[in-house]
Amino acid sequence: MLSWEQTPSLSPMRCCRAWVEIDLEALRHNVRQFRAWLGNQAQLMAVVKADAYGHGAVMVAQTALKAGASWLGVATVPEGIELRTAGIQAPILVMGAVNSHEEMQAIARWRLQPTLVMPKQALVFSDTLSRLASARPVEVHLKLDTGMSRLGFPAAEAVELVRFVRQLPHLKISSLYSHFATADSPDPTIMRQQHQRFEAAIAQLEEHHLRPLRLHLANTAATLVDPALHYDMVRVGLGLYGLYPAPHLQAVLDLKPVMQVKARITHLKDLPAGTGVSYGHSYVTDRPIRMAVVGIGYADGVPRILSNRVQVMIRGQLAPQIGTITMDQLMVDVTHIPNLQEGDVVTLLGHDGPHRITPDDWAALTHSISWEILCGFKHRLPRIAVEQPISSAPSAMQER
Ligand SMILES: *Cc1c(COP(=O)(O)O)cnc(C)c1O
Repeated sequence: MLSWEQTPSLSPMRCCRAWVEIDLEALRHNVRQFRAWLGNQAQLMAVVKADAYGHGAVMVAQTALKAGASWLGVATVPEGIELRTAGIQAPILVMGAVNSHEEMQAIARWRLQPTLVMPKQALVFSDTLSRLASARPVEVHLKLDTGMSRLGFPAAEAVELVRFVRQLPHLKISSLYSHFATADSPDPTIMRQQHQRFEAAIAQLEEHHLRPLRLHLANTAATLVDPALHYDMVRVGLGLYGLYPAPHLQAVLDLKPVMQVKARITHLKDLPAGTGVSYGHSYVTDRPIRMAVVGIGYADGVPRILSNRVQVMIRGQLAPQIGTITMDQLMVDVTHIPNLQEGDVVTLLGHDGPHRITPDDWAALTHSISWEILCGFKHRLPRIAVEQPISSAPSAMQER
């Protein structure tokens, strides 16, 4: 795949039909908001899995660390290696399952920190390490299942797990953690149940003098809901990117969206009434219109199911998307916006003039969640870091 970093002569700003704009100042602002909310007690882990929810993992990690985060969270070993390769030194927790010898060796080699969820896995890991030359112990994180029913050892048997891992060579327990299933729900019942199971496990461990160095439990939602859930560290993903896990959590912190998705008008044309537009002619003009073709499609991460259901923003005005969204392009009715030109910027997600369209708006239309919308944007779209969002900048084609 063409990498924009490797082709400086093709500056994305000048040539791109579409891109993802990352507002690093908004990211810093969000990190500072969380830091202030956490006080001095808890550390902030920036969760940068899935390429930082589509924002660009290296750029986000570097910025978040400078602004006050001290840990990074990823889902997979290659995601951790990408950060190390970029020169990032902060501790990196791999939150997903690590089972193969290859993954375990890479963990040691790149100083990543794995999540262990059962004695057998810890034993294999310890064995693998004993066969490597490096004598450095690997910091591991034990995960309890308190009710998510995904990765994790039964919370009621925490003592057994901790005791077993402690006696294994080459492993050093860095933390004990768990993950909420419903922290974004206005009904706290299940979250409180999970919290109680976590507390009960800690009490049992303390009884046996086995309490690990570090405890953590909270994702973005739990971090916002209750400081009693912060423990020694919080694992924040969505909130760093400036979105709220649920409407009822919006009052706690002032967060700013980090991502905008923009594309250029590549073609303008006038269509008479009765003209079918795009595949399947799912839209037929009922009057003469002026139509813009925009250089972004479902292969870039615009859900096809949004066809004929969303608006986009152009020159501070809303314009309806029409016809079926295609792989690389989509069409917009721009009859009401005068003097448009090929090359003009179209904002799909973000803000333009008085208007704002958010991943939550798209999620509501696609029966999805903002997390999925964000990480749906593909690598074909260059991530462009901007301190000032690009909207009214003259278009590439106008400059030529
Ligand atoms: C993804 C993830 C998080 C971050 O969740 P957000 O809701 O985006 O803050 C935290 N912990 C674990 C284990 C995760 O997998």
